[in-house]
Amino acid sequence: MEIPRSHPRYHSLMTREKLAEAFRKGLVVPEGLIAHGRGECFDYILGEMSRDFALEAERAGVAMLLLADHPVLSVNGNTAGLVAEEICELARIIDAPVEVNIFHWSDERKRKIAEELEKHGVEVYSRNDAVLEGLESARRIVDSRGIYRADVVLVPLEDGDRCEILKRHGKKVVTIDLNPLSRTALMADVTIVDNITRAIPNMIEFAREMKDWDRERLERVVESYDNRSVLRRAILAIRDYLTERAGELE
Ligand code: ATP
Ligand code: MG
Repeated sequence: MEIPRSHPRYHSLMTREKLAEAFRKGLVVPEGLIAHGRGECFDYILGEMSRDFALEAERAGVAMLLLADHPVLSVNGNTAGLVAEEICELARIIDAPVEVNIFHWSDERKRKIAEELEKHGVEVYSRNDAVLEGLESARRIVDSRGIYRADVVLVPLEDGDRCEILKRHGKKVVTIDLNPLSRTALMADVTIVDNITRAIPNMIEFAREMKDWDRERLERVVESYDNRSVLRRAILAIRDYLTERAGELE
């Protein structure tokens, strides 16, 4: 489908097209399309830009991943469909493996996602040889080399129960979620309230800048970070943006 560049919703429509294509290729499930729609709605009422609180969380998330002994970037269908190349670039810079972990279980889809990531020349973990106890969904099945032993996990577009289990297993969780009210957003250590299509490129920039920093400097970034305040600012940003838009109609 041709989307004219001049269309006011060009970026949003291109992103949809990308996800629809990933759906047709079998990387994304129909439920993923619905989840994206929920994300789009929050993006709309946040003004479709990376706000200061998002940049702050992206920076803290990168610092946490750089400080980790075993960082892992967890990739699901939507993440692979939208930012496969970018997440692999981030993995390279911070020297972390990527692991395929999906909610709606299918060996075939898992393999397809792994192949998509491998095209970008990174190490992809997709063994089904360890279990995170306490979780009902298929996402409890993980790779013993990856999420199972990780101390910091980036889990974008995550469901709340999985985030909770990762926390219960003592892991630090960095998430990307446009809904600052979701259970995931509330439970994570670092919640990036931003569209994943902007968040990962921003994180690549931060990672390039910060990868040679000494540990103390990175620790200061993590220590001064306050996730509750970031979430509060995200919710208030929605309120203020809506007030502004309503004001335009006066
Ligand atoms: P929870 O279980 O945490 O309360 P949920 O059930 O609402 O959340 P899920 O559908 O399980 O959420 O997860 C998808 C989440 O990802 C949603 O909160 C949605 O807003 C968010 N999301 C979807 N697409 C994007 C995107 N492109 N960028 C960032 N966030 C997104
Ligand atoms: Mg949920």
